[in-house]
Amino acid sequence: MVNIKWEELGFSYIKTPYRYVSHWKDGQWDEGKLTEENTVTISEGSTCLHYGQECFEGLKAYRRKDGKINLFRPDENSKRLNKSAQRMCMPEVPEEKFLDAVKQVVLANEEYVPPYGTGATLYIRPYLIGVGDTIGVVAAPEYLFSVFCMPVGPYFKGGLVPTNFIVSDYDRAAPYGTGAAKVGGNYAASLLPGHQAHEQNFSDCIYLDPATHTKIEEVGSANFFGITKENQFITPISPSILPSITKYSLLELARDRFGMEAIEGDVYLTELDQFSEAGACGTAAVISPIGGIQYKDSFHVFYSETEVGPVTRKLYDELVGIQFGDVPAPEGWIFEVN
Ligand SMILES: *Cc1c(COP(=O)(O)O)cnc(C)c1O
Repeated sequence: MVNIKWEELGFSYIKTPYRYVSHWKDGQWDEGKLTEENTVTISEGSTCLHYGQECFEGLKAYRRKDGKINLFRPDENSKRLNKSAQRMCMPEVPEEKFLDAVKQVVLANEEYVPPYGTGATLYIRPYLIGVGDTIGVVAAPEYLFSVFCMPVGPYFKGGLVPTNFIVSDYDRAAPYGTGAAKVGGNYAASLLPGHQAHEQNFSDCIYLDPATHTKIEEVGSANFFGITKENQFITPISPSILPSITKYSLLELARDRFGMEAIEGDVYLTELDQFSEAGACGTAAVISPIGGIQYKDSFHVFYSETEVGPVTRKLYDELVGIQFGDVPAPEGWIFEVN
């Protein structure tokens, strides 16, 4: 057995033994294989280095009570990777190849899938980059698709505790730019605003709609949701938001399991009073309750700065229960690895 203190894991790089690598050249993918080499050697002219021609994904493997391993909607990650690839002028990775790569990596590193009950999971990072000898601004002649993984801790060591956020003056993406694609450029643009938010003791920043700066779009690298006083689940809609699989799952659970009205619509900063609770959601964050939001000189508190609201708690328990196999999943949401 590997010597890891599962309860103490955070979200940091750990080198696991195996990763999957496949190359695309002359219009086709090679078969792909597992390797123990955790570095990548590419041409200095690679477009991923200079022009950001790359995209990535993030998903988790969950150890169940019976010892088996679940993936949560990995087919959706595959579809989204291919949408990002299209936007970046990169070849698609066939869904079967993507799912096979993810399963191979999880199985090869099975000892690193944290035990059930620790709250820890195996984080899986697929990525696709443009490589080869290029200097002009054109799509690369060759591509590399890789999947690696590492155990990560539960996002909330102290339980579901709300944290505060600050609205940034910066945008992470342009109105019809690459906001809906999971690409490095959006993240590069978010490093400075994120750093500034941390310096002011906020968890992260809130990005507004880049065209008018009046509506909430994203919470750091997670999507926003709010629960209204009328028990509606509302999450912003915009072509510059990254379509979170967690968010779409919560929309369905809110509607189908909790009888809530689930809405994708505008969330104006001037209308935050309609919400009794708010949160951020994503694979890494799962559900992170938002205590309050700082916007210019005003600080808006939702449910409480110290306690999670009852609807957020209920949604969290349902989602996490499904992911770890303790709660029956909607059809097609769980893929077993072993
Ligand atoms: C990946 C990501 C999310 C969360 O998406 P999930 O599919 O739920 O993990 C939200 N916002 C941004 C900007 C992201 O890159």
